Amino acid sequence: MSWPPYDQPAITPTDLHTDRAHPARIYDYVIGGKTHFAADRAAAEKMLQAWPALRSSMRANRAFMHRATRWLVRHGIHQLLDIGTGIPTSPNVHEVAQTLYPKARVVYSDNDPIVLAHARALLRGTPEGRVDYVQADMRLLPELLAAPSVRQTLDLTRPVGVLLLAVLQFVNEQQARDILRGLVQALPPKSYVAVTLPTADSAGAAADRVAGHYTEAGIPVVMRTAAQVADLLTRSGLDIAPPGIKLVHRWNPAPDANTAEADDAVVAMYGGVGLKP
Ligand code: SAH
Repeated sequence: MSWPPYDQPAITPTDLHTDRAHPARIYDYVIGGKTHFAADRAAAEKMLQAWPALRSSMRANRAFMHRATRWLVRHGIHQLLDIGTGIPTSPNVHEVAQTLYPKARVVYSDNDPIVLAHARALLRGTPEGRVDYVQADMRLLPELLAAPSVRQTLDLTRPVGVLLLAVLQFVNEQQARDILRGLVQALPPKSYVAVTLPTADSAGAAADRVAGHYTEAGIPVVMRTAAQVADLLTRSGLDIAPPGIKLVHRWNPAPDANTAEADDAVVAMYGGVGLKP
């Protein structure tokens, strides 16, 4: 018998396109991770030159993820779907959620195969809870929600907390609206959707220059005002939870955080949480 059996599909190595910059790896480089290649570093360095505060802005986005996850768990959410999760950077959503609620269930999703490889290796949850992963493009939301790992891990008849953090800017306005509407349709009442999105409101031209470098690297980015972020959520049928759409470091800051002192000009991301009534 020949090997491998000719009726089985050939196993081809996943093409990671390491010669092209990719959003997950640019982000990983800027926040101080280890998973990036020359093209990612070159693009990220141009962005950091255009706006050195990009690093603090991306870290503030990551800190929003931690606070928003805790906020969701405290609001009774015990199952989370993190879309566009990125290369794992501890603590990840399941670590934050399971610290508060050990039985929390988390499904991670991303369309980048390198994220999947790292997620499989790194994302292990509590024995009581559950962590799973689905590789999917969020623009194909019905497929994403129908994936066996989603169906086996999450009960979509009960409220879900969806995270769409620093990812909706990579699709156009219509696609972003379709994704949010699709989630609102698919999820039961009392589900939440948390978003963060880049803006030029706070850092002005410097943030626009960063967006320009993304586009130059083949990754078009949509920038939004606070009103546009709010509009995206409300038009999808979501009620915006207090304190509304804020620069990420100003959204429910930790009680000990000195946000009065924090400089808005070093944060170019808005964050907010929408509730399906
Ligand atoms: N949510 C994380 C990581 C943001 S980086 C955080 O806020 O810390 C953006 C991620 O979105 C990358 O991992 C990228 O691969 C992913 N992404 C970009 N476009 C996507 C798409 N169409 N579908 C799914 N994931 C996407």
